[in-house]
Amino acid sequence: MKVKIADRDEYFYNKWKTVFIHFEGVRKPAEVNVNKSSFWNDTCHELINQDIGKWLLDNGLAPWPENQPPKLELIRIKDNHFKMLKHNKSNKSFVTTVPGYLNDNGQKNLGKRQPPLEGTDNYQYVYVMNCTKCGLIYGANGSDIHLRKCPNCQEGKLGLELLPNEKII
Ligand SMILES: [Zn+2]
Repeated sequence: MKVKIADRDEYFYNKWKTVFIHFEGVRKPAEVNVNKSSFWNDTCHELINQDIGKWLLDNGLAPWPENQPPKLELIRIKDNHFKMLKHNKSNKSFVTTVPGYLNDNGQKNLGKRQPPLEGTDNYQYVYVMNCTKCGLIYGANGSDIHLRKCPNCQEGKLGLELLPNEKII
């Protein structure tokens, strides 16, 4: 998949050898080599990996009509880990707990944290939220997703901290 040059330069570091791409519903992330000139030159800048190809096939996104490659979103979770989401045309899903849901404040749900966090509202799952305005990643209770404001740029309440051993599913 092609990465826009501006995005590549903003979200990828050229000292990385590989990046990990996490897919919805797939346990093992794809490890993709980015330590090669074809990723960093001005013509190709593609992430090439057979697991990405398989995921596209499994999700009915490949093969695609000529000149109409599927639009995908790659969201940085932390460090060299990214999550791949199908691009939702209207960007409006009405189920707040489905990854990709975007609320009216521009806060996007990236998925559930695993394991669920004890001690919060009735042992709820904590969801990973991404502010599409400033890029902040933070945790939120499922019941708050639809009205969540960014703790960084919208004076929303403080986000729940993400722990290093947690997975996003
Ligand atoms: Zn923000």
